[in-house]
Amino acid sequence: MTLPTNQQVKRAMVDYARKQQPPIKVGPGINLANNAWGPAARTLAWRITRRAKDVKTTTRKTPELCRLVGFKVVPIVIEHDWKWARPLGRRAGKPPFIIVHNQAGTGTTAAVHAYHKSIGMVGIAYHFHITLEGEVHRGRPEWAMGGHTLYYNHCIGVCFEGNYDIRKSMPRAQREAGLALIADLKRRYGVPVKGHREMPLNSTSCPGKHFPLKEMR
Ligand SMILES: [Zn+2]
Repeated sequence: MTLPTNQQVKRAMVDYARKQQPPIKVGPGINLANNAWGPAARTLAWRITRRAKDVKTTTRKTPELCRLVGFKVVPIVIEHDWKWARPLGRRAGKPPFIIVHNQAGTGTTAAVHAYHKSIGMVGIAYHFHITLEGEVHRGRPEWAMGGHTLYYNHCIGVCFEGNYDIRKSMPRAQREAGLALIADLKRRYGVPVKGHREMPLNSTSCPGKHFPLKEMR
């Protein structure tokens, strides 16, 4: 896939802003210093829609804005060279669902990996881990079986840091990262998003009663 240049991102975003009724003014100070178009587009989108003064509206609009200007929302995945306790098993075929989880606590991706190993698992159970700061970390490779959902480990598992039974709202950065990752997975696999608790025979409150499940679908 060819990434658009910063100039192209800017032009498309500015065009979009001008076409709005009333037109949105885009002034100087737009930060296009980032090399990866993702953060650049997000920064730009944020500045364009900022006048709404509603963080929720603004952040929800970011992927939509990118879609309108014809760009894919691509998450930046942080890779790790995990040491697995045993060789990973291979998933077969297309995953039937993308399953979202919450961590039910806080801690780094490395801490999740170490914890899962300590309880006898091969390593981190999820394919992706999204921190409260909005970093997307690779857990298991997508070709591997997960260890996150009883009977459904052939699904892609995405875990959000935090306990969303207690935590009432998701930080903007984490929400944006989650939306970008899920949009990318849905585009590539074309399958629905489920919450862990929705899976038959899984008795859990995960991903928590305050988790923005509707928005993530
Ligand atoms: Zn879960």
